[in-house]
Amino acid sequence: GKYTREDILRLVREEDIQFIRMQFTDIFGQMKNVAITASQIEKALDNQIMMDGSSIEGFVRIEESDQYLWPDLDTFAILPWRPQYGKVARLICDVHNPDGTPFVGDPRGVLKRALARAGEMGLTFNAGPELEFFLFQTDEDGRPTTKTSDEAGYFDLGPLDHGESTRREICLCLEEMGFEIEASHHEVAAGQHEIDFKYTEALQAADNIMTFKLAVKTLAQKNGLHATFMPKPVCGAAGSGMHVNMSLFRDGQNAFYDPADPRKLSLLAYQFIAGLLDHVQGFCAVTNPLVNSYKRLVPGYEAPCHLAWSTGNRSALIRIPTPRGAGTRVELRSPDPSCNPYLAFAVCLAAGLDGIQRRLTPPAENNENLYAIAADLEAQGVRRLPASLEAAIHALEADSVVTAALGEHVTNQYVTGKLREWEQYRAQVTQWELDQYLVTC
Ligand code: ADP
Ligand code: MG
Ligand code: MG
Ligand code: MG
Ligand code: MG
Repeated sequence: GKYTREDILRLVREEDIQFIRMQFTDIFGQMKNVAITASQIEKALDNQIMMDGSSIEGFVRIEESDQYLWPDLDTFAILPWRPQYGKVARLICDVHNPDGTPFVGDPRGVLKRALARAGEMGLTFNAGPELEFFLFQTDEDGRPTTKTSDEAGYFDLGPLDHGESTRREICLCLEEMGFEIEASHHEVAAGQHEIDFKYTEALQAADNIMTFKLAVKTLAQKNGLHATFMPKPVCGAAGSGMHVNMSLFRDGQNAFYDPADPRKLSLLAYQFIAGLLDHVQGFCAVTNPLVNSYKRLVPGYEAPCHLAWSTGNRSALIRIPTPRGAGTRVELRSPDPSCNPYLAFAVCLAAGLDGIQRRLTPPAENNENLYAIAADLEAQGVRRLPASLEAAIHALEADSVVTAALGEHVTNQYVTGKLREWEQYRAQVTQWELDQYLVTC
């Protein structure tokens, strides 16, 4: 690893750190933390920090509520947006039962189990996520609005854009925390931004996503803006996605690359693509977890609808970007940034590995603009992503590869929580319905 126990003790002393946040994530993707003072650091490193799991959504019942936070030493980082006197550091933790066994409901543990399965096949799994988000203005009372201050479009360098300077500050802050920022740009919609950081092994990539979202939200707030990773905040404008670039490595080499193939893709890559296509309907409730997620998956906004793959086409669900060699990757374009990244990576990997184990073959690639030929695709019986959270939950329940990857505990908690969310939404009367029916009926 990067840090030893002694390194952490020394860093806490030398950097004059006063507080340490012991972080973990609930099954719905919310970051949680138990803050301790520096005086408790030895106890923390001995895995002795306890928390009440019954207060965490989707964790455990009251009668079995004591759980322990086991910090991953390599995740030690100082939060750069906190004061330089009385610094605050964080450690990302695994959740364990009192008897020391890993807690089955810990999303980080779910991903670790999926990665271990890949490990048994001699493979490591890399993920490079591209997160999009909106920066909105706040009103006089500091409440978030959906108004933007910029009029800049995709890749514009407008002087009009307050968001630009905020985005720059976010990038610098993330670099201070060890991120390698590869790209950062304005996105298609007003107020929409994307920051891309370098891919890593998937566990670290999921940790990075949690850190990224916290940094973006915190620094936006410091600049008087509200950052949101809501998938579709503005009707009629592009939504926010989280494309996930994925590759498998064997012995340090990209196992998706094969120079002898016409597309320079390996058999393993084709099987992985086929596995994703076979299970994407089943794991959509994980990668696209909100009622609102399904408002983004509509034609015309670079978000996928039909199950197709392509080497060139940004309307396809799966795109194979141009780079080959170490950069050979499969880009899944359906996920959105409201997902729990640990669970999302776990189900994507499980789907791909299933394709490999069953030696699946993907259908022919489709290089047409899929929005333009939607009617043809329907006629050909090309499958679609679920149209609603409800449909996605039922597809998840029917997919044994996905539910096995999540485990019984997470599956049950997830399905129960998400069905409750769906039922609440279903009972709402929306502005659209009033506009549509109040007069005509
Ligand atoms: P796009 O063309 O879709 O906008 P970007 O350049 O924004 O793509 O993002 C590409 C992402 O893919 C980056 O996070 C990058 O680190 C990641 N990436 C590059 N090579 C690999 C790889 N071998 N495996 C996984 N991700 C990779
Ligand atoms: Mg990008
Ligand atoms: Mg892009
Ligand atoms: Mg983008
Ligand atoms: Mg992309």
